[in-house]
Amino acid sequence: MVIVGAGPAGSLAARAAVESGARTLLLDRRAELGEPVQCGEFLPTPGELADIFHSPDLIGEAFQIPPETVLREIHWMACVAPSGRRFRFPLSGYMVSRRAFDKALACAAEGAGAELRYPVGVARVKGERVEMVNGTTVRAKVIIGADGPISTVARSVGFTPSREMFRMITATADGAGGDEIDLYFGRSAPGGYAWSFPRSTDSNVGLGVTELPPGESLSSLLDRFLEREQLGVARERTRWWVPIGPPPDTLVFGRALFCGDAANLVMATNGGGIPTAMLSGWLAGRAAAHHAREGAPLSEYDRAWRSVLAPPLARGHRIKETTDRIVRSDLALTLGMRYIGASGLDAVMRLRWPRRLGRAS
Ligand SMILES: Cc1cc2nc3c(=O)[nH]c(=O)nc-3n(C[C@H](O)[C@H](O)[C@H](O)COP(=O)(O)OP(=O)(O)OC[C@H]3O[C@@H](n4cnc5c(N)ncnc54)[C@H](O)[C@@H]3O)c2cc1C
Repeated sequence: MVIVGAGPAGSLAARAAVESGARTLLLDRRAELGEPVQCGEFLPTPGELADIFHSPDLIGEAFQIPPETVLREIHWMACVAPSGRRFRFPLSGYMVSRRAFDKALACAAEGAGAELRYPVGVARVKGERVEMVNGTTVRAKVIIGADGPISTVARSVGFTPSREMFRMITATADGAGGDEIDLYFGRSAPGGYAWSFPRSTDSNVGLGVTELPPGESLSSLLDRFLEREQLGVARERTRWWVPIGPPPDTLVFGRALFCGDAANLVMATNGGGIPTAMLSGWLAGRAAAHHAREGAPLSEYDRAWRSVLAPPLARGHRIKETTDRIVRSDLALTLGMRYIGASGLDAVMRLRWPRRLGRAS
């Protein structure tokens, strides 16, 4: 089988596929895996993840954080209202070096027996043919599209999920401290959020919005945010997209399966997509291998991701839609955050309805 994209989704798909006995080719167009970093670099612990997606066995198999990639342990999250009021709650996780993380996952797939080739860009997929940008072609029984939010494989096979996106910018700022990650809501990133996350000796800062206010750029919003919060000056800026649409009905298109960002599997209320990329990649790789080796139907993948990932992700999308409608101004946001409080914000981050909004989780 061929897997397009050696990010977290593709590398986990490749490892699951080879461990299930399938010959696997993993391709990526990047000259250096994990580079440039387009990420906030925060990951929850497996225990926190199991609190959202109730599948500890799958999480134990597929969500392993290579210890050498961890920069700092995190124990708290604070959500900061436009008024400056901070709502703090416990959250266990890690700041990782995404550069090292993507390389480590791809190496683990290679070590398990996958063939890893890069830089090799895929231009299109036609039936069983995977055509590279360099003019060569390979054939595959199954093709896994793990090629991120602007997926070439999805375009090739006519997979067109709702691509609501956060436009994101991330950068490095001087100084780091503590065991808390901070999310800022309101004017810093209208309709989205800005962040400051401590790495080992510096901080990962950035923001994401669904629409840019007239006359603004991601860079101008970031400069203003850093100045307002006195977080220093941003360097090494990169821009990218995060899909925050609802989970699609199916991720199986003929012989193509989709996982990670290519499949829209992101937690809409917090923009986190690495854990869901790893879990969906693992499930896709396993189902693809069963198909390639034993002729099992590829719909096995749909059954698996729908039962574990779809309910929380769909709920997260509904919560984001509802709260976006309610909190359209900084004043409403300040009042809304005060009303639901730290426990309500904690619930929202975990893809649950806050009790005070009167909905069952
Ligand atoms: C600024 C920002 C901050 C974020 N912060 C966090 C965070 O703190 N925590 C978190 O959990 N999530 C975060 N996310 C989301 C997270 O980065 C993604 O959800 C995650 O990377 C998805 O993994 P993936 O493997 O599906 O896709 P990707 O990581 O995008 O990997 C796709 C791979 O496919 C390759 N590729 C693409 N097209 C082709 C092609 N045609 N041919 C060959 N190769 C191709 C790319 O080179 C890439 O290596 C953030 C995203 C952004 C943009």
